[in-house]
Amino acid sequence: MTIDRSSWSAFLKLRHLIIALTTLSAVVALLATVYASYRVQREQLVAQSLDYNRAYADKLASTVDDFFRGAQQQLAYSAETLSGHMKDPAFIKEEVRRLHLQTDSFNSVAVVDMQARVLMAAPESLQAQGTVLADPATRRILDAARPHISAPYLPPTGNLLIYVSEPILAEDGRPLGMVAGTIYLTQKSVLNQLLGNHYYHDGSYVYVVDAQRRILYHPDRRRIGDLANGNAAAARASRGRSGSQVVVNSQGIEMVAGFAVVPSTRWGIVAQRPLSQTLAPIGSLMGKVLGWTLPLSAVALVLAWAFALKIAKPLNAMAAVATDYRAGDTDERLRAVPAWYFEATQIKSAMLLGLGVFTGNLRRLQKDAVTDPLTGLGNRRQFDLRLNRLAERGTPFSLVMLDIDYFKRINDAFGHDVGDEHLRRLAALLEEGLGPGEVACRIGGEEFALILPRTALAEAVVRAEALRLRAADAPMPEGRRITLSLGVADWAGTASGGADDVATVLKVADQRLYAAKASGRNRVEAGEH
Ligand code: GH3
Ligand code: MG
Ligand code: MG
Repeated sequence: MTIDRSSWSAFLKLRHLIIALTTLSAVVALLATVYASYRVQREQLVAQSLDYNRAYADKLASTVDDFFRGAQQQLAYSAETLSGHMKDPAFIKEEVRRLHLQTDSFNSVAVVDMQARVLMAAPESLQAQGTVLADPATRRILDAARPHISAPYLPPTGNLLIYVSEPILAEDGRPLGMVAGTIYLTQKSVLNQLLGNHYYHDGSYVYVVDAQRRILYHPDRRRIGDLANGNAAAARASRGRSGSQVVVNSQGIEMVAGFAVVPSTRWGIVAQRPLSQTLAPIGSLMGKVLGWTLPLSAVALVLAWAFALKIAKPLNAMAAVATDYRAGDTDERLRAVPAWYFEATQIKSAMLLGLGVFTGNLRRLQKDAVTDPLTGLGNRRQFDLRLNRLAERGTPFSLVMLDIDYFKRINDAFGHDVGDEHLRRLAALLEEGLGPGEVACRIGGEEFALILPRTALAEAVVRAEALRLRAADAPMPEGRRITLSLGVADWAGTASGGADDVATVLKVADQRLYAAKASGRNRVEAGEH
């Protein structure tokens, strides 16, 4: 029995399918793990960076706030000192000099009267003394007579700046002018000192916007004075908010930004770091994840493969048995299959059962094919098989052919059934006398044969004679007796070099049987005379 090997299913082995399935699931699991850990780490890195930048912006905001409160206090002290000396240029000059030199806070210091004229300024190199600040903003600040921090302002001296001012008031509260300290936006100033000590090497930077979103400080000086449009962090910071978010900067680069507000100036400080820098460690983090995951996955995969092969093994072995039923040891091979789980044991026992039924049937059929149903002796086919086997092996043997005398009369007198009974009794008689390896067959109606391997003719004649006597003595149905006529012949085997084939032996025995009939029946004929 063979399976059709041309079909696709012959190539799709169970173990291949299971291996493909386990491999696929392992790869999917690996990818899912790697992707999930990538997402988690990315989110963590971004969250950390947002927090860091937020905290950094907060810290800078409070530093800047502290600075401006201190600066305002210095100016307030000066304004009070100057109050009684507005007509004393020497005093003013000394106070302006002191303010400029004693503190690092201001790029320049000036005292201005109510006509917006600069009464005195330091450093003197500015040559600002006597100039009038004719702009409306300065006018408003003088009139308001309140502490003030200006918007970016371009004075006649040419440096973009902001200034911190304190009104100088007379004892009766009348405004006399103001004392102001400037901070240059585009040159070295206290702002650089406060904000510039910052790491720039990884693309991180800090910038400052005022409430109108105008840039007051930026590492790229060309941008100072511009409006910070389009940056969401700057927009929120300029509205007085603190917080953090991922933004796109003016160059289109994604930035992780934290922002905070300076309370005294209402400036927004934005600290930001390129997202790519924030995510830079992810490569090595993912390397570590893979370093752990890959070997574990490989081990899991190998285990899964081994297990798959173990699952497939019994089915595979049974398929092999089913593919080749011709092999004689089918039953043993099937029993040796290691069926270690439910389905395999069920299939195995079903196959064993089927095989048992099959071989049982086959054996019975084979036996039936060589058995005479009436007497249970071998039939003509069995007789031929046995003779051929002896001939093939070259085993010498004698052959006794025998026939019941006048059997027809028994049938005629008592009927066929009684005749059958006679045949059965005779068959039993024949079997009784058999030695090992000897065979009795019914080769015709009431005609039988004995095959006696390794028995010489003389001995076979003795056996035939004894049989004749016993048959004649044996009680038969209806009180009858029967007699037999027998013909004996022998075959000397191939060792003797005799050329007679088995058919000849058969013929000779048959002729001798008929010779026995012809010479009166109830006798043995062996051709001796
Ligand atoms: P002979 O002595 O010449 O052998 O005489 P015979 O009557 O035995 O010879 P013949 O060959 O003429 O007759 C054989 C008879 O055997 C014919 C048949 O009625 C009978 N016979 C053959 N087969 C069976 C059988 O299976 N059962 C029964 N009951 N009778 C059978
Ligand atoms: Mg007869
Ligand atoms: Mg006959």
